[in-house]
Amino acid sequence: MTTIHLLGFGRIGARRELKTLLEDYWHGRIDATALHTGSRQLRQRHWLLQKGAGVDISPVGDFALYDHVLDAQILVGALPERFGLNAAQLDNEGYFALARGTAEQPALEMTKWFDTNYHYLVPEWSVDTCFSANPAPLLEALQAAQGLGMRAKPVLVGPLTLLWLGKVRGAPFDRLSLLPALVETYASLLQALAAAGADWVQIDEPILALDLPGAWLAALDTCYRRLAQAPVRLLLATYFGSVASHAARLAALPLAGLHLDLVRAPEQLETFLEHWPAGRVLSAGVVDGRNVWRADLEHWLDRLEPVYGQLGETLWLAPSCSLLHCPLDVAQETRLSQDVKLWLAFSVQKLNELKTLKRGLEQGRDAVASELAGSRFARQLRSSSPLIHRPEVAARLKALPAGSDRRANPYPVRAARQAAWMKLPLLPTTTIGSFPQTPAIRSARAAFRKGELDQSAYEQRMRAEIETAIRRQEALGLDVLVHGEAERNDMVEYFGEQLSGFAFTEHGWVQSYGSRCVKPPILYGDVARPAPMTVAWSVYAQSLTSRPVKGMLTGPVTLLQWSFVRDDLPRSLVCRQIALALNDEVLDLENAGIRIIQIDEPALREGLPLSRALWADYLDWAGQAFRLASAGVDDATQIHTHMCYAEFGDILPAIVRLDADVITIETSRSDMALLDDFGSFAYPNAIGPGVYDIHSPRIPQEAEITRLLERALETVPAARLWVNPDCGLKTRQWPEVETALGNMVRVAHRLRARLAEGRGLPAGQNVCP
Ligand code: GLN
Ligand code: ZN
Repeated sequence: MTTIHLLGFGRIGARRELKTLLEDYWHGRIDATALHTGSRQLRQRHWLLQKGAGVDISPVGDFALYDHVLDAQILVGALPERFGLNAAQLDNEGYFALARGTAEQPALEMTKWFDTNYHYLVPEWSVDTCFSANPAPLLEALQAAQGLGMRAKPVLVGPLTLLWLGKVRGAPFDRLSLLPALVETYASLLQALAAAGADWVQIDEPILALDLPGAWLAALDTCYRRLAQAPVRLLLATYFGSVASHAARLAALPLAGLHLDLVRAPEQLETFLEHWPAGRVLSAGVVDGRNVWRADLEHWLDRLEPVYGQLGETLWLAPSCSLLHCPLDVAQETRLSQDVKLWLAFSVQKLNELKTLKRGLEQGRDAVASELAGSRFARQLRSSSPLIHRPEVAARLKALPAGSDRRANPYPVRAARQAAWMKLPLLPTTTIGSFPQTPAIRSARAAFRKGELDQSAYEQRMRAEIETAIRRQEALGLDVLVHGEAERNDMVEYFGEQLSGFAFTEHGWVQSYGSRCVKPPILYGDVARPAPMTVAWSVYAQSLTSRPVKGMLTGPVTLLQWSFVRDDLPRSLVCRQIALALNDEVLDLENAGIRIIQIDEPALREGLPLSRALWADYLDWAGQAFRLASAGVDDATQIHTHMCYAEFGDILPAIVRLDADVITIETSRSDMALLDDFGSFAYPNAIGPGVYDIHSPRIPQEAEITRLLERALETVPAARLWVNPDCGLKTRQWPEVETALGNMVRVAHRLRARLAEGRGLPAGQNVCP
């Protein structure tokens, strides 16, 4: 017998029930009891679903109202002092204060969970952080699952991972120094779980897939030697990458089991078969917890049959990682093409795949002949489908002449040609693309989608919005205008819907953070652009004004990164296909007279592999894709890019290699600290560091913008400095936007005058490029 278990499960529900519950509660439409009852029912439904689908051991403690990393902070009783909350007596109000902030205290910071699009709440560590075990929430979950007759396995974020993911507040210190106290707290948690009847406990240490400093690896030994003394069986879960380099170390630890992600790192299986001691559980993560494709069941049986022969019942089967990152059920989709639907496996389908593998291993392939045939059939259909393969795309990529990803001339030559026609003043002002998405805009788009508004009425409404946006920008005195992106509900979906090779689900939601969910497009086939996507809107906007209007595109890396990407081609190749399709759009925009074109790449940084050894390769193909999208234009056409949501200091050389004429980048929250990196690196092209934090309703005052720009002028020559907000303005309201941009433009004018008179230049500056 082998065992099917899960590392974790999605929480939002088939119809985003958790989102509804949370938002109803936050808006006072339901009370705490209703939130409590509703969320417990959802959790129970998911457990029963797992049980019905043949899962032998279900996770408990993975269901969080807001975030499981926040829940882990509560379990170890370590909440930031600034909230004045006691973990053991935390009510809903306190919980959501941590997650969402209060009038007095900003929320815990949020950041991406490894290389996924899930955001966790960042723990805050200080020298005097204290821990105290608070097992009650986990015991409640365990008892609830036991009450349903489930075999339940409590799941904990591991102590090393929890420490690593937190950030130091206050006086700097080594957060690893908190480990001894934290480990004792985990030991108490394990005791409490054992007393409540837990047999297995899963402890997640995904940081093992990162490049860890030696001290952290050494700490792994002491930590797990101590925890293994608890009267439970410990399953250490690793995922998102290979841990083969730690095989010997892991094998030497007194662990009862180890989970490996064999989707991301299949080759590590052999290493562990060599090292892993007999009699201990080896959990094979074989269906992809992070993507939506059906598994190749026959391939996995080929791989696993000998392993099962060797390990017997100590071979466990699981998805590669928690199913948190995967939508729930393909069966809910009614509009996907039958073909595409057949190729997909969401969480429910993945459970079936595991069941087939288990029966295949235990009873032989004949017992699952029809399931295997179904899986094979779907894969064959997929691999030969004309929906996927467009020979002209492959041919075009193959025929690309060398140097297709280069502008004709280097930046200084281009800059001079651009300056000649643009005649922009020093410190030109612009925005990042979107303007407030008002209820009127959203309802027009919704009505158009539902067929209540016909094409021409819809276009009229959008044109009216564009005209308003242009007039407002002119009145504000901005130099380079945008059309405002009213027609886009989402910067990826808008392009995905118009490119071939992308499909969209109705219910394929995954949690981004708290109640926020995203529905990533499914990139299933060769990408091409059947028709222009943005040209008409941009041309219309340009027709309304004598100031230059910037065309606005989402870049190839971001389109790739924010989609579920096909697994039958290397990502680098898919990215090149997208780049070529975008390049068609760039050239059409240019032909239509749009001579400033921005290609947004907010996701460039987050595509970085977890292991540094793989960074160079990624940055190489990602950068090439960007250049491929932006090449072929005249020297006088100005290419912008925009990046945000991340720290860019460590990938600056790669950003330089994009060779965009202008980069606008988020910096205001870090008080321009990023510019020190840009400065010491002597960033060679133009740069617009954001001076307006659009993530906050706070309106930046003139003094503050002046200070930020003066700081920028210390590192960026005035001739290469642009003035703009941090990001798009779609989530803001017009009144605040107008005030903030008004302040921004006034400051730019004042500094411009000062620079023109040669006054007030920081030492060492000059006005020439
Ligand atoms: N052009 C986009 C906008 O302004 C950029 C959004 C982003 O960077 N995330 O909305
Ligand atoms: Zn942005």
